[in-house]
Amino acid sequence: MALIVHKYGGTSVGSVDRIKAVAERIIKSQSSGNRVVAVVSAMAGETNRLFALASELCPNPDARETDVLVSTGEQVSAALLTIRLQALGQPAISFLAHQLRISTDSNHGRARIKSIDSKRVLQALERRNIVVVAGYQGVDADGNITTLGRGASDLTAVALAAALRADLCEIYTDVDGVYTADPNLCPDARKLARISYEEMMELAGLGAKVLQLRSVEMAKRFNVPLMVRSSFSEITGTWVGQEDREMEDVLVSGVTLDNNQSKITIAGIDDRPGIAAGIFGPIAQDGIVVDMIIQNASADGRTDMTFTVARADLPPALALVQDVARQIGAAGVRHEEHVAKVSIVGAGMRSHAGVAAKAFEVLANHGINIEMIATSEIKISVVVGAKFGEIAMQALHEEFIGRAAQPPAAAKAS
Ligand code: ASP
Ligand code: MG
Repeated sequence: MALIVHKYGGTSVGSVDRIKAVAERIIKSQSSGNRVVAVVSAMAGETNRLFALASELCPNPDARETDVLVSTGEQVSAALLTIRLQALGQPAISFLAHQLRISTDSNHGRARIKSIDSKRVLQALERRNIVVVAGYQGVDADGNITTLGRGASDLTAVALAAALRADLCEIYTDVDGVYTADPNLCPDARKLARISYEEMMELAGLGAKVLQLRSVEMAKRFNVPLMVRSSFSEITGTWVGQEDREMEDVLVSGVTLDNNQSKITIAGIDDRPGIAAGIFGPIAQDGIVVDMIIQNASADGRTDMTFTVARADLPPALALVQDVARQIGAAGVRHEEHVAKVSIVGAGMRSHAGVAAKAFEVLANHGINIEMIATSEIKISVVVGAKFGEIAMQALHEEFIGRAAQPPAAAKAS
């Protein structure tokens, strides 16, 4: 008998009808011989609604109380799903995080899971229950309610699957798997049959919302096999698992576009210890996340430094950098408000030479100037002018992944 953790996202439990459909799917999975634990998100839009309510009352609401508030969405869907399962004659029981001792640290809004006491879940399963668990929440050592970060019901599901040594964790969502690109931006995008944890981590880090980044990290760490699939159909989804030989043959699994970045250059700075720390220290202190950083080789002891930030962070980042530039006697600060970052990700890059050269050639053939380049073992990112972002993405997709035989079936962005 297999133990499977199902996770249902917000749209999958977004209405009474959707909850009915989910209950039937779970019962079907159980009747085919599985034991099922279902982790649920809040009903679609609910978490945003709760955050918005708080901010109507206070511009900067207390983090502890915010977690008390926003964790309620998952409590509602867990109870509703359990009520429906019972109505269908299926023994079922719901649990909140504190009832399962999903212990976390006390970082409200982005707490980390320390441990899960799986005893109660196992006992309930023994009694032939479907176990329904509220995602996204935890409890700290003092009994305070915490939340694990936006999108983190995925993390609850993977952590439970690891703690229970489940055979599989199925992530049910409103798209039928992981795509080679965002189908809204790239008409040739197609669903991947399988992808490695590492590739999926890179894609999640680049903004693919289909899986939360930390959940993939945890799946890799505990070797939890994942299947991302749609709760709206019976179609098999995308396997996420350990890299194998076959995956290495695929040069590029995904192409992403981030069309919302700004670029800042500090020119003519001294090439000596402490300069980078002096520039990026204040930026980090302000909570601004810096993405790509490039420092040129110096000439005559002077160099320049270019980096990107999210466009929303440009004004504060620029103000800080102009300050620092004056203090360290830099020659000047330039910026470009709107640039695009295009990335290709593929396990095959590890063992195949020439992927970067080919990518640059493709961009050159389209007359696209590359402003910055960064690479990792399985990723190449380039920054290009904003208006070239989509063309660059489509061209790279066509080169490495190819044209779709037919348009993807009703793919929606999640
Ligand atoms: N409801 C939470 C959110 O909207 C967690 C989740 O859906 O995974 O971020
Ligand atoms: Mg999600």
